[in-house]
Amino acid sequence: MGRIVQKFGGSSVADAASIKRVARRILNAKLAGNDVVVVISAMGDTTDELMDLALQVSPQPKARELDMLLTTGERQSAALLAMALSDLGAEARSYTGSQAGVITTGKHGDARIIDITPGRVEQALNEGNVVIVAGFQGVSQTTKDVTTLGRGASDTTAVALAAALGAEYCEIYSDVDGVFTADPRIVSGARHIPEISYEEMLEMAANGAKILHLRCVEYARRESVPVHVRSSFSDKPGTWVKDLSKGNPMEQALITGIAQDTKEAKITVVGVPDRPGEAAEIFDTIARNEINVDMIVQNVSQVASGRTDISFTLPMDDGRKAIDALNAAKEEIKFDELLYDDQIGKVSVIGVGMRSHPGVTAKFFRALSDADVNIDMISTSEIRISVVVDADHVDTAVRAAHTAFGLDAEGEAVVYAGTGR
Ligand code: ASP
Ligand code: MG
Repeated sequence: MGRIVQKFGGSSVADAASIKRVARRILNAKLAGNDVVVVISAMGDTTDELMDLALQVSPQPKARELDMLLTTGERQSAALLAMALSDLGAEARSYTGSQAGVITTGKHGDARIIDITPGRVEQALNEGNVVIVAGFQGVSQTTKDVTTLGRGASDTTAVALAAALGAEYCEIYSDVDGVFTADPRIVSGARHIPEISYEEMLEMAANGAKILHLRCVEYARRESVPVHVRSSFSDKPGTWVKDLSKGNPMEQALITGIAQDTKEAKITVVGVPDRPGEAAEIFDTIARNEINVDMIVQNVSQVASGRTDISFTLPMDDGRKAIDALNAAKEEIKFDELLYDDQIGKVSVIGVGMRSHPGVTAKFFRALSDADVNIDMISTSEIRISVVVDADHVDTAVRAAHTAFGLDAEGEAVVYAGTGR
């Protein structure tokens, strides 16, 4: 008899009928002989709606109170699901993150899981219950306040619980049949990927693929939890995210997938004195404000002026904070001006196959140039090449790369509810 964790995203529990449908699905897993722990997201757009409501009441709500509010979304769906399961004849019990033993840091809105003490979950399982845990939340080890783990983090709750409970695997249900070679909303011929390595999935998630929360993939890799990403709207097998390092490298596809991210912005610091310490000064300022920088480009300095420009990308949501912080440090850094551009997007090609194949970069850049897409910035890792392009060119660039690397499929990918949650 196996022990499994199943996580259902918001689109799978958007209304009463969907909650009953999901309950039947869970019941089937239980009747098949499994111990089942379910991690649940808030219904449909609940989290967004609660956020809007908070902003109507207060322009800058206190982070602690925001967490008190947002965690109610998952609490609703967890309780409702337990009721639906009871009506189907299955004993079920719902728990908040805190009750389930999800212990976190104290950073409201972006807390990290530091420990899981799932005593009550274990006990409820032993008593024959299906256990339902409200995702995306925990309790701070120091303040004992309720925390949230960041948007989309129910995935991370699920994998963390799977690891703590020694589950065989973790199923993540959304409204698409798993991971595709590109976002099916952009590339209609995107191909389903039956299995993908943790490291490729990490690059996909870190570079804009929204199917899995980035920290969930990090957690899964660290704890070796196999993750099955699938749709709750079909019975098709989804995508297994797991350790593929023992496979045959000769059989690896050159490129596994294309990801795009339109949530980044670019800041150019114009006229920075070209001498040691200036870049450190800029990025110290950024780091002190807890902003993550992605790509960095420094121009060749102008001999006449002895000054140079430094551009970097960062999450769009941190744009204002970064500009304010740099302006406040203008005296020390001594730059001329700041330019801000959020009409950009990042397109990445990802695949472990590129380790052993030269020419991937050339092929990617040729495809972009044939599609008349101008490259603004470039960055690479061992298994990824990313470019920054105009926001208007992102879709064209994704399609061009998808075709160039031979990823286009015959049929059309299905998106069941259209939200990807
Ligand atoms: N409900 C939360 C959100 O919308 C967490 C999740 O769905 O994973 O971000
Ligand atoms: Mg999600």
